[in-house]
Amino acid sequence: MSNFEFPDRIPLANLPTRIEKLERLSRHLGGPAIYVKRDDLTGVALSGNKVRKLEFVLRDALDKGATTVLTCGAVQSNHCRATAVAARRLGLRPLLLLRGSRPERYEGNAFMDRMLGAEIRCVTPEEYETADDIMARIIEELKAKGEVGYAIPEGASNALGAMGYVKAAEEISAQMRENPDEFNFDYIVHAVGSGGTSAGLIAGGKLFDPAPQILGISVGSDAQPLAADIRRILSAMKDTYGVPFEFTSDDITIIDDYIGRGYGLNTPEELEFIRTAAQMEGVFLDGTYTGKALYALADQIRKGRFDRRDKILFIHTGGIFSLFAKYDDFAL
Ligand SMILES: *Cc1c(COP(=O)(O)O)cnc(C)c1O
Repeated sequence: MSNFEFPDRIPLANLPTRIEKLERLSRHLGGPAIYVKRDDLTGVALSGNKVRKLEFVLRDALDKGATTVLTCGAVQSNHCRATAVAARRLGLRPLLLLRGSRPERYEGNAFMDRMLGAEIRCVTPEEYETADDIMARIIEELKAKGEVGYAIPEGASNALGAMGYVKAAEEISAQMRENPDEFNFDYIVHAVGSGGTSAGLIAGGKLFDPAPQILGISVGSDAQPLAADIRRILSAMKDTYGVPFEFTSDDITIIDDYIGRGYGLNTPEELEFIRTAAQMEGVFLDGTYTGKALYALADQIRKGRFDRRDKILFIHTGGIFSLFAKYDDFAL
């Protein structure tokens, strides 16, 4: 156990989230028992993994006197939606920088962004490469109007946001200790986008016992640049917040064989798997993150990566609303 003191946070998520067994899916795959940590149930509109990160980041925004919160992401970004909801909960104005052209129809997360009255600025993918600079410029514009802007990087994946998953690792370790006969997990598997969730879990694994091995499934980027991002976040957690741990590159395992058609796009096999999970377990996976990651886990089980006696904890990081922008893909 560690007596590291977390930075201050605002409680926004419903915690702890439950751990449930995927009884029928585990049997269907014929391999290790799969359990799911329901981080999709951190809330309703304000749900998913980003809420844990926002608890820390938005505390900092309030401490700095912010009146407007800026962040960036894809049109169906769960992070942008969660930030916009949380901003409104705290009486702040949300401003979102979205990658790509203005959607013809606002669906899923984008529908919610609009409903929240978030200011939406659409930028080309090229412009998006410099999203942090664009947000810094907007903060200057806001200053002239007497507003204080606070920029959150993509996915809230900076050292402070990642603290949300250090805390989640503490929560998982406590749940394992409370129920040692059943929750004796060998692995934690999760989807990797911007890397903050991974960084938090890896650092947390160094601080709290027991600590399962962490396996990240990339949903868009190659493993190498992603691992470099995660290393940067880990170093910043040590340097900026004094989180007491050491790490090497061996602590970071990213599988990048399941990107499929690319970020936010799905193969027919992935869509079929999402349907199977819904019908076997009543669990909705999203197409961009959790659907790909659990599909990857199922495929790795089929390929014999795990022992039958292993126990695996899959983190359901949320994302259900983006499914509502995929009617045509599912053709139901
Ligand atoms: C953002 C997101 C992830 C990835 O988390 P990162 O910390 O960005 O790597 C996974 N699942 C869902 C549903 C997400 O919205």
